[in-house]
Amino acid sequence: MRKVLALMTILATSAGTAGANPLLEAWEAPFGVPPFEAVETAHFEPAFTAALTAHEEEIAAIASDPASPSFTNTVEAIDAAGGELRRVRSVFRLLSGAMTDDDLQAVQRRLAPVLSRHKDAILLNEQLFARVDAVYGQRQELDLDTEQSRLLSETWKKFVRGGANLPAARKEELKILNEKLALLTVGFGENVLKETNRFELVIDNEDDLAGLPRGVVAAAAAAATQRDKEGQWIITLHKPSFIPFLQYAENRALRQQVFAAYASMCDHGDELDNKVAVVEISGLRARRAALLGFASHAHYVLDDNMAGKPEAVYGLLRKVWDPALARAKGEVIEMQAIIDAEGGDFKLAAWDWWYYAEKVKHAKFDLNEEMLRPYFEMSAVRQGVFDVAGRLWGLQFTPRRDIPVWHEDVAAFEVTDAEGRVMALLMTDYFPRASKRGGAWMNALVKQRYENDQRVVPVIYNVGNFTKPTADTPSLLSMDEVGTMFHEFGHALHGMLSDCRYRSLSGTSVARDFVELPSQVMENWAFEPEVLDMYARHYETGEPMPAELKQKIRDAKHFNQGFATTEYVAASFLDMNWHTLEAADGMDATLFENEALESIGLIPEIISRYRSPYFRHIFSSSYSAGYYGYLWAEVLDADAFAAFVETGDIFDPATAASFRDNILSRGGTEDPMDLYRRFRGQDPGIEPLLKRRGLM
Ligand SMILES: [Zn+2]
Repeated sequence: MRKVLALMTILATSAGTAGANPLLEAWEAPFGVPPFEAVETAHFEPAFTAALTAHEEEIAAIASDPASPSFTNTVEAIDAAGGELRRVRSVFRLLSGAMTDDDLQAVQRRLAPVLSRHKDAILLNEQLFARVDAVYGQRQELDLDTEQSRLLSETWKKFVRGGANLPAARKEELKILNEKLALLTVGFGENVLKETNRFELVIDNEDDLAGLPRGVVAAAAAAATQRDKEGQWIITLHKPSFIPFLQYAENRALRQQVFAAYASMCDHGDELDNKVAVVEISGLRARRAALLGFASHAHYVLDDNMAGKPEAVYGLLRKVWDPALARAKGEVIEMQAIIDAEGGDFKLAAWDWWYYAEKVKHAKFDLNEEMLRPYFEMSAVRQGVFDVAGRLWGLQFTPRRDIPVWHEDVAAFEVTDAEGRVMALLMTDYFPRASKRGGAWMNALVKQRYENDQRVVPVIYNVGNFTKPTADTPSLLSMDEVGTMFHEFGHALHGMLSDCRYRSLSGTSVARDFVELPSQVMENWAFEPEVLDMYARHYETGEPMPAELKQKIRDAKHFNQGFATTEYVAASFLDMNWHTLEAADGMDATLFENEALESIGLIPEIISRYRSPYFRHIFSSSYSAGYYGYLWAEVLDADAFAAFVETGDIFDPATAASFRDNILSRGGTEDPMDLYRRFRGQDPGIEPLLKRRGLM
């Protein structure tokens, strides 16, 4: 840490901005957290300029080192270089996801091609690659340990996959493609955020609120007040707003209106339309893959993942698709029966699903979401998540109020292990706002690594879009939100318990189809009866969740799994179809999507979990040809949790220790399947997954 800080001071002086730009000064707060209160949008471009220059100089020094190339002066040096840039970028990444506005978006647009050029300048630097290649060529004689070997092979692969072996003219072509892609993907995400914020359903007639739970009405009233429409109610496209509306609003026409707004995001032929971008991105990715010698973008991506090839992904998706679709069709029949019994003279439509699913759940299990919410107060659930980690790994979480935060909703916790060692700082930011993109995610402000034999303590954050408190109730979560909190916390654990020497191999720097193992495995604990006993207390009375309610949750665990699996696998097929294209010129995004979904027999009552124009995971995030990764990792996480269950104790200390030692602390320091086998003692099977989803 100290070394970085010293460099930063020099930089600040040489850039002529000493004292003026907090991004370029030493960060004095505990854990090296940036001084958020002092950071302004205008600071980013000068900070990036200075940090990029510093990184370029470091790289130039490595490339032109007169000493012959060695593991230390080349491979380790590349890993360690760019510290200032990573610092600035970590703040920028956080704020552009969780705290953005028009000005920051404009900066992001201007920076996208600059950062793309910077990355290419390193990966396509011939002098530098010659050194990496030389070290790689001697790898048998170097006597490297496992982690060092991995750093060497991963570094070499990164260069080759980045085009280092291409002839000069091809390299120029590649740079142009990368730059265009960087801009398009940023624009795509920007449009989705703007579209999410643009829609509002204003309700001024109280009758239209019929069926809505009290909490949903209060949240809608609060949203209206916030938008200067006091006395009315507003439903937005933020999940905590529109999902309960779809579940409970008796007014079918309004449900249809909200659903249609969601399903047609960025598909209105106006300035926020993403259909052209979808085709352009897919086309450019296909061209880039061809340039690099791959049949398609999916071939290129999967070559670096556990799945290896598109055939393996399609194989897994098909295995799950048929039973899932069959089950979903059964769910349609159950819901239609209720519609008919109520005398509704219509066929179940996509916008009816949430509403009638709730009715089925109520009829079959005497259970609905609103019965559970009072037991899922946000901070109690968060404490429950912490306590699960406490029982599994002896972790303790202590609130820290002296840490700078980027918004008043953010809370910070110091994380210590059973021996009292400080493992990490965890920050949580759980409520939606206009400046935050949808969904939930984890990332690092500071990544774990070793510097001068000292473990650098990681700073990890979790962001969500959960149900907000209202004037008279605290934040009461849905089951889905509880599951999401456990999920993101699993990613956080991967970052917090990391114990790797090298930054680029630490924490969540693993294959995309492996990274969801630590996150998804945590979801398994969320609703176990003995875990509910730990955290699920009524927010008003403090009473623990009654046994019969816990039993109902158990009974209903396969409920709606046909739908959940079908909408997810449909989106995974769609992702794969876009990214196995050899070219996309002149294509029509809507037609392509429709054909993709028809070809797998998707029923009209269900749409793809994300439609192409707002499928951010694959068009503006890092899940392209990777959305299947959740299912791939689910094979692993279902199998991993089975290892706990088989011992008769879901907190079995030996299994927990093995999971920590072989998976959570190892980052990407070895081949993921080797890590998994060492934990499990055998290959994973698909049966635990099918059983869990009730698809056997
Ligand atoms: Zn995840």
